[in-house]
Amino acid sequence: MHNHILSEIISWVDIPAHSDFSIYNLPYGIFSSPRHSARAGIRIGDYIIDLQALSELNFLDSLAFDKTVFQKNTLNEFIGLGKNIHQQFRNRLIELLTLGNGSLKNQANNILVPAKEVEMHLPIYIRDYTDFYSSEEHATNVGKMFRDPANALLPNWKHLPVGYHGRASSIVVSGTPIIRPWGQVKSPEQTLPQFKPTQMLDFELEVAFVIGKSTQLGQRISTSQAEDYIFGLVLFNDWSARDIQSWEYVPLGPFLGKNFASSISPWIVPMEALAAFKTNSPIQEPPVLSYLAFEGAKNYDINLEVAITAPQQGEKIICQSNFKYLYWNMSQQLAHHTVNGCNLNIGDLCASGTISGKEPHSFGSMLELTWRGSNPLSMPDGSLRKFLEDYDTVTMRGYCQKNNVRVGFGEVSGQILPAIPC
Ligand code: CA
Repeated sequence: MHNHILSEIISWVDIPAHSDFSIYNLPYGIFSSPRHSARAGIRIGDYIIDLQALSELNFLDSLAFDKTVFQKNTLNEFIGLGKNIHQQFRNRLIELLTLGNGSLKNQANNILVPAKEVEMHLPIYIRDYTDFYSSEEHATNVGKMFRDPANALLPNWKHLPVGYHGRASSIVVSGTPIIRPWGQVKSPEQTLPQFKPTQMLDFELEVAFVIGKSTQLGQRISTSQAEDYIFGLVLFNDWSARDIQSWEYVPLGPFLGKNFASSISPWIVPMEALAAFKTNSPIQEPPVLSYLAFEGAKNYDINLEVAITAPQQGEKIICQSNFKYLYWNMSQQLAHHTVNGCNLNIGDLCASGTISGKEPHSFGSMLELTWRGSNPLSMPDGSLRKFLEDYDTVTMRGYCQKNNVRVGFGEVSGQILPAIPC
């Protein structure tokens, strides 16, 4: 794989300093505008490259694939072309965008669309969604709060990447409002459950990977093959209703406390752009079974943060974490997911689980940050937050940085709207 970061590339596109969307990134999304039907685009700086226009103006004639994939309102068909085509396409884009190459610059008005003029859409058709639980710190915090502080991790946790099958239909793109859900809740003091809007609405800071290659039923993916099956990453907010969750989850796990919505960032950052930010995983002790063993750096150094913005108040950053903290990496998650022969489809989404670090400010949910409401966060106006309130907006951001090279995800945000009266 090419490592474009080793040599500095300067683009003729005017990219703001510290932009997440440098020429080293080139993430994929689906956009529309009053002038554009929903179609594929690539973000650079404050612009979107209209890939349909790029192919219609013959800039991609040297590449042997069906360019109508860019006219589709999801990226699934493009993803299905495979990594060789993706790499050739990426190399061609970098060539066209590099300072000194005037051919595309002369057509800039026909190809670059200002990002502020577009609406972003869900970039992929997601047939299946899996959520893991791969942060040791998060699993430990939850175990301390809900079970036994002395034995916070369940016996299976260090032997397999725990996960569950989530709901794909309610995954929405950043900016989609989140309506406070109703559900059954029962506190330990109560004898009977009540039906009411959740009073413990929460976020979960996660990163999700997009499956880039399908498998057949019965086929396993090894840890060494796994990254061939990953197209790219997005930020993922797994909205959670803790009171609904804690009453319903025994014995089969999360259900209505989770499936009312999950939000993703609109730009899929390709693995090629993240290769320079690989880093070692935490030591795994006890040793894992051989099908989960791996070689080399499999974690990624992605800085993450979460902010809450309440009406008439400035933004408050409440969490700073990092994707590299995860105990179980994506290659292990995929090896485990397929070890029984479960098949994968292009566009399937696998989320990491809440990404918490060791320090309290790195905890990736309100549940942990406020320790189940016992230690509320203070907002800029002095008000306190145990969980999310109506009209709060939660914004998650992520970026990689090495020397002067920045590859970022932009953001995933969502505002809480009041429960619909019953
Ligand atoms: Ca989750």
